[in-house]
Amino acid sequence: MFNSFHNLADRQLAGGILTREDAQAILASADDELLELVAAAAKLRRAHFADTVKVNYLVNLKSGLCPEDCTYCSQRLGSAAEILKYTWLKPEEAAEQAASGIRAGASRVCLVASGKGPTDRDVDRVATMVQGLKDEHPHVEVCACLGILKDGQADRLKAAGVDAYNHNLNTSESNYADICTTHDYADRVRTVGKAKDAGLSPCSGLIVGMGESNEELIDAVFALRELGSDSIPVNFLMPFDGTPLEGTWLLTPAHCLRILALVRFACPDTELRMAGGREMHLRSLQPLALHVANSLFLGDYLTSEGQAAQADLDMIADAGFTVLAPAGAAVPAAAGGTDDDSAAAGTVEPAIRRRGAGTGLAPNA
Ligand code: SF4
Repeated sequence: MFNSFHNLADRQLAGGILTREDAQAILASADDELLELVAAAAKLRRAHFADTVKVNYLVNLKSGLCPEDCTYCSQRLGSAAEILKYTWLKPEEAAEQAASGIRAGASRVCLVASGKGPTDRDVDRVATMVQGLKDEHPHVEVCACLGILKDGQADRLKAAGVDAYNHNLNTSESNYADICTTHDYADRVRTVGKAKDAGLSPCSGLIVGMGESNEELIDAVFALRELGSDSIPVNFLMPFDGTPLEGTWLLTPAHCLRILALVRFACPDTELRMAGGREMHLRSLQPLALHVANSLFLGDYLTSEGQAAQADLDMIADAGFTVLAPAGAAVPAAAGGTDDDSAAAGTVEPAIRRRGAGTGLAPNA
């Protein structure tokens, strides 16, 4: 066991492996230890990522109408959430949406489609979009998130220029049947393995705040470590009305920081992304979370609105960090953003996305 979080950080910097006991201590730490915990996690973050923040931008290629029943998801079968529902974006629209995020400073574009997994035709459709994107923006990384992959599909994506594949484990194996019955944990692990085998950078993370115990959360984080995920997005449950988890508010801002710190201590040199729900759960502690996480999504999420893109860029600059530029590209000064602050920090309910992909309105970037 360690004497202090700083002592634990030094141990991790020397190549230590976080134990279950260490992880329990992080999650059980008191509010008056929070700043010490963050400062210690920041040592690891700085050692591996200096003062950079990786900015990622989501494009929801196909929204809603999913046949799967993931309890946390506003796009699930039977969801009564009044989200935007549309089938595949046209390649020009996908390109336009992606370009907004890139102009605002994103070095990675994440192309996402609802559904259990893509058909071969869907993979071809995305491959064509990616080829176009790479021609226009050769320095920008592209991540695809299309669900469970069949044999050969990861290779096809790789050949088209896709850099990474996202498929979140979301929660622990023991908890998985409670959040989804139409596919299982092993399906998810297999897809991450297929992506990795094809040479795609594996991106796999969590959704926290769904009622998981600390032990289940630690299992999930250790599973991600085992899986060798290159980037770990941590989503904080957005409990949409009209979904089974409606009204589930189990997180505090301080506990969100402990969870991020747990991931940082377990996987010190892995990209750690504060993802969906950060505004409503971290609230005024978002800038503090930048000292632990080194990555975020800019602008809107798949079906809800994030805080104004410019507010994110300002937060990064105000906290003394810089946006990581795509290799070989310059980040525009004061890039992107709108003055629209409709979903600013402190908003309680998820604000359903009504702009960007699938609408005639300008995106939030
Ligand atoms: S998480 Fe993906 S697979 Fe599950 S319901 Fe939502 S869109 Fe469908």
